[in-house]
Amino acid sequence: MSDKPEKLITDDGLRLDGRRADEIRPMKIEIGVLSRADGSCYLEWGKNKILVGVFGPREAHPRRSQRSDTAVIRYRYNMASFSVEDRARPGPSRRSIEISKVSREAFEPVIMTELFPKTAIDIFVEVLQADAGTRTAAINASSIALADAGIPMKGLITSCAFGKVDGQIVLDLNKEEDNYGEADFPVAMTQDGDITLLQMDGHLTPEEIRKGLELVKKGCKEILEIQRTVLRKKFETPIVEPEEET
Ligand code: UDP
Repeated sequence: MSDKPEKLITDDGLRLDGRRADEIRPMKIEIGVLSRADGSCYLEWGKNKILVGVFGPREAHPRRSQRSDTAVIRYRYNMASFSVEDRARPGPSRRSIEISKVSREAFEPVIMTELFPKTAIDIFVEVLQADAGTRTAAINASSIALADAGIPMKGLITSCAFGKVDGQIVLDLNKEEDNYGEADFPVAMTQDGDITLLQMDGHLTPEEIRKGLELVKKGCKEILEIQRTVLRKKFETPIVEPEEET
């Protein structure tokens, strides 16, 4: 890892990657990239590269994992060993187990599990390249993959983090900001703005949290628009006007 830069935010308010405090990194989404999955998504957000495959609803195995009245959601976040600077150890870690749990919980309020008793909905996340914000990137990609799989949801989930860098509240931390910043605060929310994931690493005052949540709301709104555009492109059938009779 490189040494801590003297400043993470320049005197004219620009971050090292050229963004202002309230800007998210550029996001690119491809939908339906895996032919064996029921739904899938490849997402790039800054230098993060994430692949998600969704399978189901399908009969849950082992049988004892089934619930008679509802589907179970299983979310597995995994980092490829080559996704980070110092090779990530293959297999589950405390961190990946925690991220999988909170991400599953972020989707539970919107997936209509009651429609599919005894089944499982599997969400497999592979982080191919990591540059801070992988859990939020993975949630945004999973939301698209779930929609691609046709899983009934009350709405999309969007996710973004804010943090504190050089004493300033900024949106969507990159790796340097995550490493050398003072706080990181990932959030996920429904399209109505109800929060379904909220975590905090570092120290923030209540006023800083209020300010950060305002930034996150703005970021999530932008992400929701990107998600909707991709989904519209795939699912909206163009309206063909009947030709006028002459
Ligand atoms: N990271 C790493 N090795 C690890 C775990 C994380 O290099 O074993 C890096 C990776 O770039 C990741 C960043 O640290 O995106 C921040 O990790 P954090 O746990 O805050 O989760 P994230 O911000 O990715 O959701």
